[in-house]
Amino acid sequence: MSPPMTPAQWRAALTAEGVPFTEYPGWTERGRDAATGKVFGPVNGVLNHHTAGTNSLATIAVNGRPGLPPPLAHAYLPKTGVLALVADGRANHAGLAAKNVFNAIVAEKPFPKPDANSGTIDGNDALYGIEVENLGDGVDVYTRAQYDTWVRFNAAICRHHQWGAGSCAGHLETSVEGKVDPRGRVEGYGSRSPFTFNMAQFRADVAERLAHPASWSPSAQEDDTDMPQYANLGLVRPYTLAPGAWHDIQFTQEWTDETGDHAPNSEVFVEGPARFTGSLSLRFEDLPVGDVVQVRMSEWEGDELQQVHPIHEVIGTPGGAYGIVPLTKRIGSGRSMRVRLLNQSPAEIEVASAVLTTLVWKES
Ligand SMILES: [Zn+2]
Repeated sequence: MSPPMTPAQWRAALTAEGVPFTEYPGWTERGRDAATGKVFGPVNGVLNHHTAGTNSLATIAVNGRPGLPPPLAHAYLPKTGVLALVADGRANHAGLAAKNVFNAIVAEKPFPKPDANSGTIDGNDALYGIEVENLGDGVDVYTRAQYDTWVRFNAAICRHHQWGAGSCAGHLETSVEGKVDPRGRVEGYGSRSPFTFNMAQFRADVAERLAHPASWSPSAQEDDTDMPQYANLGLVRPYTLAPGAWHDIQFTQEWTDETGDHAPNSEVFVEGPARFTGSLSLRFEDLPVGDVVQVRMSEWEGDELQQVHPIHEVIGTPGGAYGIVPLTKRIGSGRSMRVRLLNQSPAEIEVASAVLTTLVWKES
């Protein structure tokens, strides 16, 4: 908890972190503080959004949307990667944030699912907001320059406040109103090929920056053999999951697979001997509110299940059913790893998306 950055602190933090930026006229005087009688701050984190549109600078800075007066964020980041500061006061971006997630942001603990029953807070009181240009259709691409600036912007704020990357959240993680932003494809980052945006990876990238001096840049090429390889797998199309049945997720789309040992249309996402760490982002349709889908890593030798690993659950909420499951493990030679789902609801559900992002350290 600390006071919001002053204009001078904004400029210093962004410049040190290598953020290319412009200043929209009047930004140092702009905010909803006077209009609402609620002063912005103390601040506890950064909330990240996509615009779901194009050329939104004036909308976000001075026009607003019907029923939502401007400013709609503190910064706007178009595809050029050159950020615009638009406000330093209170901004209309966060809406109601679930108290349980807000508490996790403050504590920099792993985020639970947003639970409206935990209570809500006005996120505009305490969270910086950035709107990043993207259609939000899951297909539109964040440019390499844009993603790089985005990571730097979050890191600059965290470095100023002496926060960790756990203070950076996505709107979809805090919202009790069913927000899905930010999402989409990313052109690349550092040595990384195109991948699907997800907050776990984003926080890892912010954390990596924070582990270096502010002047650091991710290297374009990494051929050090100690470097992990990157795998990013997903589904080409949604499929139906019957009640009561175990199902191994079959990864049909390889956005990136540097490890090279993922057979197409395979359930296996990594083969031993290897260490891996990453996450699986899941989205289900039609999961009744309060019902559960179990998610487990399962370890195989050939076609024989050897071991199942701890259970994670995705719970249906009024806003939908999303889950981010951590995947971290070491597996031995001859073993392979899959992800299994068990639909515990009485209804057929649709596995709308499953995106697996891992770093893999091959062992010999
Ligand atoms: Zn949003």
